[in-house]
Amino acid sequence: MKIKNLIIWAWISWIVIAQRLAEKWEEVLIIEKRNHIWWNCYDYFDKNWILIHKYWPHIFHTDIEEVWHYLNKFTEFTNFQHKVLASVDSNLIPVPFNFNSIQKTFPKELAKNIESSLLKFYEYWSKVSITELREKAKKEENKDLKFIADYIYEKVFKNYTVKQWWISANDINDNILKRVPVVMSKDNRYFPNNKYQWMPVNWYTNMMNEMISSKLIKVILNADYKDLIKEIKFDKMFFTGPIDEYFEYKYGKLDYRKTLYKLEEYDKNSFQENIVINYPNDYEYTRITEFKKFYPNSPTFWINKTVICKELPWVWNIDAYPVETSNNLEILEMYQKDASKLDNICFLWRLANYKYMDMDKTIKNALDIKL
Ligand code: UDP
Repeated sequence: MKIKNLIIWAWISWIVIAQRLAEKWEEVLIIEKRNHIWWNCYDYFDKNWILIHKYWPHIFHTDIEEVWHYLNKFTEFTNFQHKVLASVDSNLIPVPFNFNSIQKTFPKELAKNIESSLLKFYEYWSKVSITELREKAKKEENKDLKFIADYIYEKVFKNYTVKQWWISANDINDNILKRVPVVMSKDNRYFPNNKYQWMPVNWYTNMMNEMISSKLIKVILNADYKDLIKEIKFDKMFFTGPIDEYFEYKYGKLDYRKTLYKLEEYDKNSFQENIVINYPNDYEYTRITEFKKFYPNSPTFWINKTVICKELPWVWNIDAYPVETSNNLEILEMYQKDASKLDNICFLWRLANYKYMDMDKTIKNALDIKL
């Protein structure tokens, strides 16, 4: 078989590439190893018409105008401000930790003192990483600052991070912790930095169906590219699987964070009081999402059925997130050197690039590729 463009499994980045190629009237063949397309972004309606994100909750948020305008060609969005609560000492407090969290945790007077101590060092509305806050407390030798920095670190970050990554929060790449800042205001939003926080009006799968609706795009499901690749002649290949797998692990295996996303159905209207509740310190899971709460205007919101997703780290065998330790990055460099020598193969997405990237960054990544 001869094809101009071959795309090897993954999710939204290859859909963007396929859409752009078809727009240029080029043929595309996609080989997907699962029995459905859209990879981990796949969502579907269950028997009760509750919209389920099959693998884990995907919430679209971005500051990148180009990405926002690009996606708006394929779907309408509904405004959605994601908020998370964390279960800390049997209390549900907002995360990112902010002034509301302080007020829910401490007696009134103490809460007031903590807030004014923080405001001596930071402006209202500012956001700082937990690492920066701890360093500041140390440098300034300020008792109140140290108290709150230690509290947030111990109760929110320390155990969650070890559960999630098996790496101490002291040693993990700070960019990961920065994703969830400490917020010097009463802003409870999980993504306080992002201008656009929306969910597709219909569902992700529908949006992506739109993106690859061209007849020039063909998809083969349930197929391992390794079984087919010898039979296919291509001009250009877009590889979005793990880069170490592509090179048959010749420099060793890279580590990926694995997570089991366990769905459970309950015969009740509501399981928990918020769409997502994090469990930094108790239980083996890190968080629980209740899907129907993404779409409170849906007719199924009121039925006596609900589905939740428990995230159990290190159980599943599908590689989800790169673990950017120095050892892994050294191995990665060797693979990337080899990859740069392959003119007709382009490596894309979180696994092939070995970077912890959100949906919007992977789309930007795919929009930036010169076709
Ligand atoms: N994190 C934490 N406690 C929380 C939420 C997040 O310690 O309640 C840390 C943890 O290291 C996590 C990182 O912040 O990996 C980024 O969190 P995010 O929700 O962005 O992604 P996750 O890695 O949890 O999927």
